[in-house]
Amino acid sequence: MSFKRMEGFAGSIPQKFADTKIPKCPMCGTTDPHWSLDERRGKLMSFDPEENANKYLFKCEKCGCILRAPVTDVVGVGRSALLSWQGVAKKAHGKQVKAIYITVEEVGNMQTTDLYKEKEMTLEELNALAERI
Ligand SMILES: [Zn+2]
Repeated sequence: MSFKRMEGFAGSIPQKFADTKIPKCPMCGTTDPHWSLDERRGKLMSFDPEENANKYLFKCEKCGCILRAPVTDVVGVGRSALLSWQGVAKKAHGKQVKAIYITVEEVGNMQTTDLYKEKEMTLEELNALAERI
């Protein structure tokens, strides 16, 4: 994986998303996570929307934790159930269609346990977690 800051036009949406929506790292608590980005392509042949979806990965500069979010959530498509089948799939899984779901892929070096590893939560829950650090 090659994480980097995406200051240019193509990367501005996810970069802006990470910088403004996740102002504080939920794993180490820094208010300057300086998120770097990577993108992971989904498995096109998979019918599981979780595996199928393209994902953005956000890495904290301080602790190295990695957060994962579906591209459709970040750009907003997945939040409209009528516009995308991924939105429909979300609804079928009992998720809130309008919420943005973030998964903690790596907990980083400030966490002493893997308690949060692969834990999925909404953006609100993630920010609430960051506030408690
Ligand atoms: Zn961090």
